[in-house]
Amino acid sequence: MRKTRAFEKVNVDDVAAKRAGMGMPIRTHGLDVGQPGRYYNSHAEKQAELINPDGLHTVSRETCDDCVDFFGRLATHDNQVKRDADPNGLNVFHPGGKREVLPYEDD
Ligand SMILES: [Zn+2]
Repeated sequence: MRKTRAFEKVNVDDVAAKRAGMGMPIRTHGLDVGQPGRYYNSHAEKQAELINPDGLHTVSRETCDDCVDFFGRLATHDNQVKRDADPNGLNVFHPGGKREVLPYEDD
């Protein structure tokens, strides 16, 4: 029987490689802790994407502009719709660069 793990760790280098493969430049931040680009490459939705490229990624923080750029490029690069759900709604990234933010409905 396969053991499940509570967390799967994605190396930020894997995110950096994905980013580089799309021609997306490294973006530095004051919290990079010695590795340029580490902060933005460690964001949860990017890690979730590398674990499950076909999945809907649900995150508890608003999608930052670097992740918006990343998923916009990725949708075009992979020719696949990418989705992530953040507190503002469902972000839908289409190949070609179109992005929709679908707000949640109130009950
Ligand atoms: Zn982000």
